[in-house]
Amino acid sequence: MIRNGDVSFWYAQTGLPGCRDGLPGDLAVDVAIVGAGFTGLWTAYYLKKAQPDLRIAVLEKEFAGFGASGRNGGWLTAGLAGSAERYAASRGRPATIGLQRAMFAAVDEVIRVAAEEGIDADIVKGGNVEVARSRAQLERLGQEYQHLRQWGYGEADVSTLDGGELARRIGIDGAIGGIFSPHCARIQPAKLVRGLAEAVEKTGVRIYEQTTVRRVEPRRVRTDCGTVSADIVLRCLEGFTAGLAGERRTWLPMNSSMIVTEPLPDAFWSEIGWDGAETVGDLAHAYMYAQRTADSRIALGGRGVPYRFGSRTDHSGATQERTVAALSRLLHEMFPAARQTPIAHAWCGVLGVPRDWCATVQFDRPSGLGAAGGYVGHGVTTTNLAGRTLRDLVLRRDTELTRLPWVGRRVRRWEPEPLRFLGVRSLYLLYRIADRQEYAGRATTSPIARFANVIAGR
Ligand SMILES: Cc1cc2nc3c(=O)[nH]c(=O)nc-3n(C[C@H](O)[C@H](O)[C@H](O)COP(=O)(O)OP(=O)(O)OC[C@H]3O[C@@H](n4cnc5c(N)ncnc54)[C@H](O)[C@@H]3O)c2cc1C
Repeated sequence: MIRNGDVSFWYAQTGLPGCRDGLPGDLAVDVAIVGAGFTGLWTAYYLKKAQPDLRIAVLEKEFAGFGASGRNGGWLTAGLAGSAERYAASRGRPATIGLQRAMFAAVDEVIRVAAEEGIDADIVKGGNVEVARSRAQLERLGQEYQHLRQWGYGEADVSTLDGGELARRIGIDGAIGGIFSPHCARIQPAKLVRGLAEAVEKTGVRIYEQTTVRRVEPRRVRTDCGTVSADIVLRCLEGFTAGLAGERRTWLPMNSSMIVTEPLPDAFWSEIGWDGAETVGDLAHAYMYAQRTADSRIALGGRGVPYRFGSRTDHSGATQERTVAALSRLLHEMFPAARQTPIAHAWCGVLGVPRDWCATVQFDRPSGLGAAGGYVGHGVTTTNLAGRTLRDLVLRRDTELTRLPWVGRRVRRWEPEPLRFLGVRSLYLLYRIADRQEYAGRATTSPIARFANVIAGR
């Protein structure tokens, strides 16, 4: 029997944390942070370190790390959250390359802080391998390599792998080529977010859990346990943003689902290799992402049901049976020898997608309102960069971070329902049809996928 939900497998490993106290009533602080995922916690961490006398409260509906931060695929990746071309269109090419270089550094910054704070999160910086499993994917892989080289990746930052080189690294059935970048680490997300929450508390920040924020206003946060007054209010809810009054169409809560096997036997690993703890993804339109866990399982994720009507979110991470079946099929296609080993756990979560599929950090000095998110599935590292950027904006520092091209972007809102639902569901239907055509032998990217990209505005 596959365990489904219970937030995520990562918490099945660590045990769910006991909840901290809720907000006891009205409160006055200097900075109120809404949401205790990586964005809220990194922001609190860097703000308090920079200015220890700040009174900071983090307000969290469930427990720190309940959202995507405790459920993700564990790719601490330097992959850009959004399109380089789109950032460059508003702020220019050098600034966009600067953002990419800041992402490379952010991977190392997370690893540095984890070591400094004594957080053991199974971190191994083994890099990332993107694989092609069809000729059309191979074509896109070549384009992706060229694209990365134009946008901040030097020779040492990305390299190509032919079929033989890839097979010697990781034996993936049907894989015909790949690209490798060293700028990614495998992590255990629940261990990192829990450790970070403890590190934040040690600085003197107060985290209030079981406290649902209903409305965010200039200098005031209304919760179901009382009202918090603060000069600065930072919204750090990513995929849950739509739950706040007035924010339903800001960022779309995109669903992503995962499965994990029981530990795989030594015989499996002797056949497959995968000794370097690289994270692995593919170039399918409905793409997959995977990691080899510290206890030698494979954790693999993909889109499943992409979006729930009315921007609803899941309950404690339970995902659909048909998604579990689809992800298991994909796992067994890629690693046939894993068929002998049961799937242990399945779960899902939401990430935030802005209408133009690019992330933002915003801060409005007159109202004191700020926000960061919309990382389109690349949030694990980007949240760290966002946290440091919000720190500089709040503390009125003019730095390289505050000049990055994702700061202060204005993005239009998502369409109202039922257009939003029909649009996103159709988009992923088209992507699946395109993937099927390509696996059936198309040598180039399916025109259906190109059409889908145009209607998505990607
Ligand atoms: C299945 C999955 C796999 C992913 N894999 C990767 C990956 O491998 N690499 C990568 O870079 N990115 C990945 N992502 C994306 C990444 O995890 C997120 O972008 C990132 O964790 C977002 O962090 P956050 O703090 O902004 O949001 P969250 O971690 O979602 O935190 C938001 C917090 O706000 C709380 N909250 C919600 N509503 C309220 C309210 N009304 N009041 C108070 N609190 C509230 C929630 O409980 C939650 O704790 C994945 C996401 C998912 C879902």
